[in-house]
Amino acid sequence: MNGLMMPSQLTLTAVMRHAQANFPGSEIVSFTADNPTHRYTYADAFARSAQLANALQALGARPGDRVGTLAWNDYRHFELYYGTSCSGLVCHTINPRLFPEQIAYIVGHAEDRWLFIDPMFVPLLEALAPKLSSVEGFVVLTDRAHMPDSTLPNLVCYEELLESQPTGFDWPSLDENTAAALCYTSGTTGNPKGVLYSHRAMVLHTYGVLMPDVFALKGSEAVLPVVPMFHVNAWSIPYAVPAVGAKLVFPGPKMACGETLSRLIREEGVTIAAGVPTVWLALLKYLRETDSTLPSLNRVVVGGSACPWSIMEEFEQQHGVYTHHAWGMTEMSPLGTYNPRVPEDLPGDQAKALRLKQGPAAFGVEMRIVDEQGQPQPHDGIAFGALQVRGPWICERYYRAAESALTDDGWFDTGDVATIDPRGYLGITDRTKDVIKSGGEWISSIELENCAMALDEVAEAAVIGISHEKWAERPLLVIVPAPGAEPDPQKVLAAFEGNVAKWWIPDDCVVAEELPHTATGKISKKDLREQFANYRWPEEQPA
Ligand code: AMP
Repeated sequence: MNGLMMPSQLTLTAVMRHAQANFPGSEIVSFTADNPTHRYTYADAFARSAQLANALQALGARPGDRVGTLAWNDYRHFELYYGTSCSGLVCHTINPRLFPEQIAYIVGHAEDRWLFIDPMFVPLLEALAPKLSSVEGFVVLTDRAHMPDSTLPNLVCYEELLESQPTGFDWPSLDENTAAALCYTSGTTGNPKGVLYSHRAMVLHTYGVLMPDVFALKGSEAVLPVVPMFHVNAWSIPYAVPAVGAKLVFPGPKMACGETLSRLIREEGVTIAAGVPTVWLALLKYLRETDSTLPSLNRVVVGGSACPWSIMEEFEQQHGVYTHHAWGMTEMSPLGTYNPRVPEDLPGDQAKALRLKQGPAAFGVEMRIVDEQGQPQPHDGIAFGALQVRGPWICERYYRAAESALTDDGWFDTGDVATIDPRGYLGITDRTKDVIKSGGEWISSIELENCAMALDEVAEAAVIGISHEKWAERPLLVIVPAPGAEPDPQKVLAAFEGNVAKWWIPDDCVVAEELPHTATGKISKKDLREQFANYRWPEEQPA
């Protein structure tokens, strides 16, 4: 027997309508290249999304067409999110930091009909244009005064495209399973793979993000997504914030600029900000150097890579800001787990251990760990296993792939190795491809990196496995010194004593000027392993 409730569809159009009806005056503030601080309301934003939908219809857009974006976080990108998805098109966000050949591959694979681009990406696209055969036109996200000279064919100015269009649109009644957005994984091996998000997944994910032990967003807050809108929908912040009517503050191209972030936070009264560890390192450095603080900010969300303790400690002790550690991935929209506030009475060392974990699963995500035979492992906080997940906002099949992306029994293998403790807290130890196996036992590179990052002289740290005659593999630590520091490798290694099992301590420490990073800002272990392909352990080096 079916229930007898209204069959209302879970769509982003419903999010937009809710925000329009209830919070038309809520503000969206953006830092942009052509107008340093642009300010308007939700009512203005959705009126312009309607103009965009009208313009796309006039261009001949058909339901399901992909519209590509190469853009930073600002109000025009926000208008694109809603103007495309809510009119039945697919908002395909593209990471401009990918290798140009990968961008060409992605645009071709997605068959994007139009690309909406920030002016600074015009030269990149000019070089790629001959390879972008599906693209009918390029729309530059700026006004007439700032239009660049360009050889790109069918170049259109965004403001001119919108100008003459009506501010109302007859938004279609979409089935909730309609595709809303598309994002390709950065894929360190093989071609990038497209994750095609449905409206239903985005709406359920929005509820998940808003839960009290997750982002816990209130309408009275101001939210700064420092996580790019070109990567996994900026962790769905552009959907979750309008659902509650909070103020949105966008940093434009200044994602890693401590000065801009700190000014926006102070001037706009930002209460919560979200981003990867690298952006917080930049912000904390700026605050340290200018002896400033951020009175309005009460929490930051850190994910994308393991959050070092030094970030949590400095935020809390110097600025009274609580750091929440979260884990997720492109294929999960991205939310998987979120570490809530630890109980106040938890002793310091236990609180630290708990906060360094990635937290319990958000409602909507089921997790398990399995061994090499696919057998589920206990959730005792000790057993390691391949982390598998399932739920309504997790990818079932990649875009245009013939086969399901799931295991035979219906789970998605995340490619991460983890522990899960009896309270359900996830502890990511490695990517499957990066695990270090010494004498048949796993060593967690993330735990070792956290240990190194706790030292003042270390700005960045990475641990990779290097083949070893006796143990098959042993960990090698590579560090980048903090500005002005000259760390002694032996002293760095000595600092591990007592913090990790003795046999986990890296066999050597190498000081490097920089570490290779991926297009999403993570340390690229693959490139690092290539750099150290000829490395020999001290005892193996010729005398
Ligand atoms: P992406 O799909 O590019 O967002 O990358 C997802 C991957 O980033 C995950 O599978 C993890 O390997 C890694 N990751 C994300 N968040 C964390 C975290 N909090 N701690 C450790 N690794 C993380």
